[in-house]
Order: sequence, then structure tokens, then C-alpha cells
Amino acid sequence: MTIKAYGAHAGDRPLESMDITRRAPGVHDVQIEIAYCGVCHSDLHQVRSEWAGTLFPCVPGHEIVGRVSAVGAHVSGFQPGDLVGVGCMVDSCQHCEECDAGMENYCDDMVATYNSPISDAPGHTLGGYAQQIVVHERYVLRVRHPEDQLAAVAPLLCAGITTYSPLRHWKVGPGQKVGVVGIGGLGHMGIKLAHAMGAHVVAFTTSESKRQEALALGADEVVVSRNADEMKAHSKSLDFILNTVAAPHDLDAFFVLLKRDGTMTLVGAPASPHPSPQIFNLIMKRRSLAGSLIGSIPETQEMLDFCAEHGIVADIEMIRADEINAAYERMLKGDVKYRFVIDSATLAS
Ligand code: NAP
Ligand code: ZN
Repeated sequence: MTIKAYGAHAGDRPLESMDITRRAPGVHDVQIEIAYCGVCHSDLHQVRSEWAGTLFPCVPGHEIVGRVSAVGAHVSGFQPGDLVGVGCMVDSCQHCEECDAGMENYCDDMVATYNSPISDAPGHTLGGYAQQIVVHERYVLRVRHPEDQLAAVAPLLCAGITTYSPLRHWKVGPGQKVGVVGIGGLGHMGIKLAHAMGAHVVAFTTSESKRQEALALGADEVVVSRNADEMKAHSKSLDFILNTVAAPHDLDAFFVLLKRDGTMTLVGAPASPHPSPQIFNLIMKRRSLAGSLIGSIPETQEMLDFCAEHGIVADIEMIRADEINAAYERMLKGDVKYRFVIDSATLAS
């Protein structure tokens, strides 16, 4: 089926309206009419070829929510009309150690929602800046939030799970002091989730304008990280830091805030490396540096259900599809409170 989408033909070209085709649903497939798609900084990294290996045309988008319009003959878990979501992956090998453990996100053959090679035309996956998507049922999530929150649920499919997964893995909870660095799409979800898990949350931002807002998001304290005195006040006090910053920066400024045995987990994925750390900042307090990639399908469902139960959604600014290039420029300036979401109805016009 031919549908409308928004994407780019080269890394130095703006995104534009284009026609793409989706496969007819196979026996295990769910066909989804996309209502909204969040705009992740990864979309920008990939479509502008900041990361290696972008395949064109590139249609980004992996924070997808919508309604099921058709299902294959062997699909048992979903039916037309269901509210569903699709995140960063649409397939994996389904038989490796990672898939067997329910951690498809770490499968070497994980098929990302966009930019992964597949046999269907044009030879790679095309993402959620589109009217419709067809996905194997294993990779479709159930949305249990009220329907009027659907647009604000979309960012949970990447920003939500990418912050939820490390917070759970490193067992963040009551009695712990947790730092969230970079208050963008991921960071603002990190604050909400760590707060809901019962931790004492310290938000670290470069933007003075976010100082008050971070408190409203659920932070107990806010530090403007350019201010050395404010940083020093938290020296050797944090149990865990979730670092979401989308650009290279001095990691040592944050390591020294960890107490003994503290961990800083990087989820931000800038195109070029960070200039640090100093080894001694790790050795002296047995600190750890870690990374984390999105989250598994079962964990994504757990996160969506946790958010529905706790009334958690993203803070969003809705845009038309033809506003995407301007939205990217604003995202680069940290000028988004806190996630752009494309209204898919505007793709048709
Ligand atoms: P975003 O909305 O643009 O937020 C990034 C935040 O980082 C900014 O709002 C800003 O917060 C802070 N920042 C400080 N200096 C910056 C600079 N020079 N350039 C850009 N940001 C700067 O991005 P996002 O969608 O949250 O994504 C963050 C990163 O995570 C991206 O690199 C993305 O590719 C990556 N990511 C990784 C995964 C994963 O699985 N590991 C999943 C999704 C996304 P302040 O204003 O508060 O300083
Ligand atoms: Zn993302």
C-alpha cells in the first residue's frame, strides 16, 4: 500500500513529503494507522548522517502510537481498533541468547524501526513519520492510557523506555540520590520516572530557563551545570547518574559527584566521543561507567503499564509534519519543552 511519509533523500537535504509503500500484513503482522509520532534526537542524528550508515531515503520516527486497522490470521493479541504503540525495533532474530532472554534490544540482528536492512522495498525499514506501519505482533505494545493522552504517550516508546530500563537495571529507588543530566526528551522522562520510583532526584541542566520547570517535572533539586559552586555542592553524593546529553562533554564533571561504587550510565549517543574520563576519577571511588540501549519489548510494556498506573506521560509540543525541519533546529538549541510530536493527520495535506 502506498502512503504519505516525511523523510529525507540525503543527509544534507531537508525532510520533505514523500510516498512510501508498506507490505500487506502477513499472518503475524499488525497494521497500524499512526496517530502521532514523537521526534527523538536519534532521528536527527540518523537522518543527517551524523551517525554512520544512514540509508536513504530515510524516514525517521520510533515513538509511534495509533490504532490497529488490520491483523494477520495468526495474530491473537491484538484486534482492529486497539490502541497500540511501536518503539525503536520492529523485529529481531527471535532465537539468539538475547531474544530467548526477552532482551531483543541487544540482539545482534535487531531490526530497528528505521534504517535497518530488510528485503522489502526500498531495502531498509522506514519509520513512523508516516501514516501507517506494519509490524510483527511481538514488537507491538498495548497502550492502556486514556485515549485523550495518546499524543503524550508517544514519547514513552523511546524516551520513556530508554530512561526506565537503566533506572530499573541499576535498581533506583527510595533512599537513593539520583542525577539526571540533560533535560530534553529523555531527561525529562528520566526525572518523572526516577521520582515515581521513589528516588531523590537532582536534575542537571545547562539551561537556566529549565531550573523551575525541572522541579515541576519531579526533581527535588536542580543544578545549572555551568555553575561550578552548584556542582561542587553535590560532590561525592550521588548513587547513580543517568546521562542523556546528545553532545560530547566533560564526563569528569559528573563522575566526581558519584559516591563510592556509584555508576554513571550514558544513554546519550553523540556522533563524536566525549573528551574524558580521567581514569583516576573511576579508580579512586570504584566508580563505574556504563551504557544502556532502549529496553526490551517486555520491559517496554512494563514501562507503559507503570506510566498508565502512575499517570505519567511526556510534556509535548505538537507539530505539523511540515514543521519538522524547524523543530530539529530548535531541538539542537535545547529549545523544546520537552518533546515534539508530529500529528500524523497533517501528513496528508
Ligand atoms: P534532546 O531532547 O535534544 O535532549 C538533549 C539534552 O541534552 C538537551 O535538551 C540539553 O539539555 C542537553 N544538552 C546539553 N548540551 C547539549 C548540546 N551541546 N547539544 C545537545 N544537547 C545538549 O535529545 P533526546 O531525544 O533526549 O536524546 C538525547 C540523546 O540520547 C541523543 O544523543 C539520542 O540519540 C540518544 N538516545 C539514545 C538512546 C539509547 O537507547 N541509548 C535512545 C534514544 C535516544 P539541557 O538544556 O538541560 O542542558
Ligand atoms: Zn529515540
